[in-house]
Amino acid sequence: MTTLDSKEHPWMREKAVKRLFNALPEEALRFVGGCVRNALLGAPVGDIDLATQLEPDDVIRHLDKAKIRYVPTGIEHGTLTAVINKKPYEITSLRKDVETDGRRAVVSFTHDWAKDAQRRDLTINALYATPDGQVYDPTGQGLNDLDVLKFRFVGEADMRVKEDYLRIIRFFRFLAWYGSGAKVDAAALKACRENRRGLKQLSAERVWSEIKKLLSAPDPSRAVRIMLTNEVLETLLPEASNSEGLDRLIAIEKREELEPDPLLRLMAMSAREPVQIALLCKRLKMSNKETKRMRAWAESSAPLDPNADERAKKIAIYGAGGQVAADRAILRGAGEEDVIISARWISLATLAQDWTPPKFPLSGKDLRAQGVEEGPKMGKVLDALKALWVKSGFNADREKLLMALKLINR
Ligand code: ATP
Ligand code: MG
Repeated sequence: MTTLDSKEHPWMREKAVKRLFNALPEEALRFVGGCVRNALLGAPVGDIDLATQLEPDDVIRHLDKAKIRYVPTGIEHGTLTAVINKKPYEITSLRKDVETDGRRAVVSFTHDWAKDAQRRDLTINALYATPDGQVYDPTGQGLNDLDVLKFRFVGEADMRVKEDYLRIIRFFRFLAWYGSGAKVDAAALKACRENRRGLKQLSAERVWSEIKKLLSAPDPSRAVRIMLTNEVLETLLPEASNSEGLDRLIAIEKREELEPDPLLRLMAMSAREPVQIALLCKRLKMSNKETKRMRAWAESSAPLDPNADERAKKIAIYGAGGQVAADRAILRGAGEEDVIISARWISLATLAQDWTPPKFPLSGKDLRAQGVEEGPKMGKVLDALKALWVKSGFNADREKLLMALKLINR
């Protein structure tokens, strides 16, 4: 019997976890999914998912009684999220899918752990653990597959992918995270390839959330290349299917010890082409913040020169905006074959990330005090003064600028 020793896995001993196992009948609640999989792999555990034999109404009753707050995040398919100390714990009632249309399932609840395992995506994600660390593998394949890093669907791959096309992206997501040395299951890959067109039926939110997770893996190059050769990448991200661009960025990330940044990686896979990028952002329904960053990168035409001196670099960064300058510079550095020039691009990027431009020392109030009227005139004068200030390398102080204002005003 495989066990997880809670001494080695602090997440199993969290106070909040104890509260949940006290609130619900202990034998009816088990850890499931990512936490069990990652703990067995020795990888860090992110969110904690739980499975329970209780039906949602019953779960609610027990949580209410224990005064544990929850959000009905997916109550129609049996999921609610308990929130303890701001941390979410997804609790899903055991279920079997009775009907699916490729996007969502009609479910019925069950007490049978084995039936619940049958509706999960991969065998390595259908592992359950009790609070004292006993691991259950109802499909009988999960533990072994985890051991040899074999990624495959529970049951018949083609059917499982047709039930929910999101499983295609999830398959590659897990491959990206844990499968660097893994043998890829031929049947799973075939099912992903043959059903790729179904990806278009999925909601943008689900797709983008999975893509982001995929692109947050330490090194997703191999998984993305396999997506490319199986025509999944082009179907999923027609505007961002340059896997070589991604490879180059990852090489720089390794050399410079940069943190994985899914948006930057997506940029690396795209052409810096405003219309295409706008389309991509819209199709994936990115957040305003994400869209702003992507589009600013695509649209920026401010000059950047990695060979300039520090003052000129700062002026350029100020002109382009710090984030845009950093994004452009890292990607140029990634695309540059000359190691020395590449390193210069990266140092420009570092400056763009670390440097906070000083605040412009004058305001509209100062201008009004000097008799400048509100309106377009004031805007123009402010712009002119700001240009002077920037040109001075942000050194011109209030006094100098007020003097310049007097000259302009004359
Ligand atoms: P992570 O560590 O990133 O959270 P995870 O495996 O826990 O990975 P979740 O999205 O949190 O992924 O899902 C929890 C579990 O629910 C999965 O391990 C899997 O058993 C099941 N699951 C999630 N999405 C699907 C799906 N589309 N089809 C079938 N089972 C799914
Ligand atoms: Mg999870």
